[in-house]
Amino acid sequence: MISTSKTSLPKMICSILGHRFMRSKQITTHIKEYKCDCCGKEVTTHTNGNVVPLTEDLKVIHQGLEQLVLRRSRKKARRLKATA
Ligand SMILES: [Zn+2]
Repeated sequence: MISTSKTSLPKMICSILGHRFMRSKQITTHIKEYKCDCCGKEVTTHTNGNVVPLTEDLKVIHQGLEQLVLRRSRKKARRLKATA
């Protein structure tokens, strides 16, 4: 009897050769999101510097943080324009 495996080919390749993570998003200078080019696995850098899997909760936190950083940079740009 032949058993069918639910493991996809990209996941098998990554389990053998390792993931090929590419930076997908930079939230701050310290917090970045990475996505595997082959299987699509997403990870992020944790506050302690370790790399952890990117969960839905972390995605929401990163979106909020990204909006905060954008707002701050816009305020800073407006202040620079006003003083120039
Ligand atoms: Zn992978």
